[in-house]
Amino acid sequence: MKPKPSFARNLNAWYRRDARALPWRETSDPYKIWISEIMLQQTTVNAVVPYYCKWIKIFPTVKNVAKAPLQKILRTWQGLGYYTRAKNIYKSSKIICDVHGGRIPDDPLKLRKLPGFGSYTVGAVLSIAFDKRHAIIDANVRRVVMRILAIEGHANMLQDSKILVFLEKEMPKKNLRTFNQALMELGALLCRNREPLCLTCPVKTHCRGYKKGIQKIILKPKKRVVKDIDVAIGILKRRDKYFIQKRPSKGLLADLWEFPGGKTEKGEPLFRTLRRELKEDLDIDITSSRHLMNVRHFYTQFRVNLHVSLCESSAYPRLHKNRKWATLKELRKYPMPSGSAKIVERLSEMNFLERP
Ligand code: SF4
Repeated sequence: MKPKPSFARNLNAWYRRDARALPWRETSDPYKIWISEIMLQQTTVNAVVPYYCKWIKIFPTVKNVAKAPLQKILRTWQGLGYYTRAKNIYKSSKIICDVHGGRIPDDPLKLRKLPGFGSYTVGAVLSIAFDKRHAIIDANVRRVVMRILAIEGHANMLQDSKILVFLEKEMPKKNLRTFNQALMELGALLCRNREPLCLTCPVKTHCRGYKKGIQKIILKPKKRVVKDIDVAIGILKRRDKYFIQKRPSKGLLADLWEFPGGKTEKGEPLFRTLRRELKEDLDIDITSSRHLMNVRHFYTQFRVNLHVSLCESSAYPRLHKNRKWATLKELRKYPMPSGSAKIVERLSEMNFLERP
């Protein structure tokens, strides 16, 4: 079936009328578009809005990012997870300032060389910020076009070559930023995974899936089994200060600060885990512990159960630049994994400072 020529016109008119008002849609500043696109990876629109507004307030330009200390970048990003994204923004900002005079390039080859700029991000910045003719395929676009073309099966990258042919054919000559955003918005608002709202869809007359009654055919791939991980966390307190340490600069949650502790081994009592971990890690002996709270945090593939105890030790840990004692107020300035940040919040709620 050859789509009718009014596809882009119908789609764009719907977008102008019904699209959600989102802060990054009020601008064509390439820096702001870039930040929003990175934040929107792996995170829902509603969750991103407050983080985006906060980020732009603290770092209104790419130069502000490049000049800031990494810890401030990570602290501002805290809660969004996938911290590599924040680090790549930081590295790219420095390159943009050092090599490109503080302006985000509109050349795909130059963009591709920047850390964190994969083909999707390059396409999004080029089309949304610079209005260049560049197709972009995210999960929403993939699902919408698969339904329009009645391609059956799971929505994954194997389908992208057919989708790209369709997009190249249907993309208008002008107003690419509207077309690309409209397709994504259509996927988010109407062409939803489980309950597509076809009757109100602006492109239903072009949709082969709708005509054949197979518009719900595309399902998400099976979710992976989420693994439970139990972690014993030791709170060491010295007057009104709490001990934290920085994670290594490579690997999971790199460069973030956290309370000491570690994974429990199968069948191992929490106190024994604490003794073992704090001995190995800090070379101190835990003499007693008192359970304070449990905190849960969900990652994509696992769920972490943090068992938090106040510990007494025979000595305090030896300090160096990656180990600190900090008050509850000071703790809020350190970038932390979400689980540790939740502990700080709970300690504050418990008004722990005033306890004997
Ligand atoms: S008609 Fe239905 S299935 Fe087709 S694009 Fe619109 S919402 Fe999606």
